[in-house]
Amino acid sequence: MNYNFPQLTGRLLAWYGENHRDLPWRHTRDPYAVWVSEIMLQQTQVKTVVPYYERFMAAFPSVHDLARAPQEKVLKAWEGLGYYSRAKNLQKAAGEICAQYRGQIPSDPDALLALPGIGPYTANAVLSISFGVSAPAVDGNVRRVASRFLALNEDITKAGAQRTVESHLTALIAQTARPDLFNQAMMELGATVCHPDSPSCPRCPWQTDCQGHLLGCPQAFPIKPPPKKKRVQQAACGMVQDPEGRFILSRRPVQGIWANLWSLPLCVADENQNPAHMLAQLLAPLSAVMPSEASARLRHVFTHRVWLIDGYRIPVDHPLSHQELPAGWVCLSLEEALAYPLPAPMPPLIQALL
Ligand code: SF4
Repeated sequence: MNYNFPQLTGRLLAWYGENHRDLPWRHTRDPYAVWVSEIMLQQTQVKTVVPYYERFMAAFPSVHDLARAPQEKVLKAWEGLGYYSRAKNLQKAAGEICAQYRGQIPSDPDALLALPGIGPYTANAVLSISFGVSAPAVDGNVRRVASRFLALNEDITKAGAQRTVESHLTALIAQTARPDLFNQAMMELGATVCHPDSPSCPRCPWQTDCQGHLLGCPQAFPIKPPPKKKRVQQAACGMVQDPEGRFILSRRPVQGIWANLWSLPLCVADENQNPAHMLAQLLAPLSAVMPSEASARLRHVFTHRVWLIDGYRIPVDHPLSHQELPAGWVCLSLEEALAYPLPAPMPPLIQALL
């Protein structure tokens, strides 16, 4: 298929000029702000990100501020956004930028890609938006738009299909002196017009050339392998509360799900394990008696797994003191606990068990 690339790029940029949303990170080309916004936007909707972005930039206005902040403060600012490894990598990378580049975000692609949490998409977004480099930023949304436009008849998860998409976008972005606007326009088209389930083709600047639309089946693209079934695990967590209303939080391990965050004492079972028995054993040194029935149940869905968490009220008849608690456990009032960095399902579970 022969496309008129200058015309396609021109139509996309004209459409973007008239239709883009006014978002806080679009008022700056500061690489730090662009980088933070792009990391937050991974797997997360724009309307969710906006208040987080504004609070985060107010709390950590520069790479130096982020690098020297306590990790707990960074995790607290991220609380509820999920995928906490993003926040940890962001801070780790900020430390490396301060140590190696005196706090200046590098404009060299290899240097950017060597930083924790920065992959080709984020690197190209920062390079194009902040440094004017002509490099397409290709994430799932952009791949969807391009694969529909090309009616790409290959599994989009395969390297060959991804190379086809990239070379098409590279040819398009080469037509403009504003690669920053091109990449933002592609993101905007994917987010606001070429929706996953119902693309609004009549509103699209590429409607007359889009092969998926012309075939009458844009939703058939991108072609993907069937989704893997999520692993379901049973879990139990306990609100161990003393007569003064204080209860225990424990710090999650440094690796794995919710690493370094704080939760009610929690046991997640593998097959053939009983999470309530595991929790009873965990709490036995506190003379805490497990009730036979859970008081709350919560379902939390991760990318590849689901946890079904039973919440137990476990009152103890003596004041809890820090001396009797294992390392990494604390006993707190509700107000104190809510100031700790907690995984998203924990605050509602705590409230349900009070
Ligand atoms: S014409 Fe429709 S399917 Fe094609 S890119 Fe535009 S919105 Fe997506």
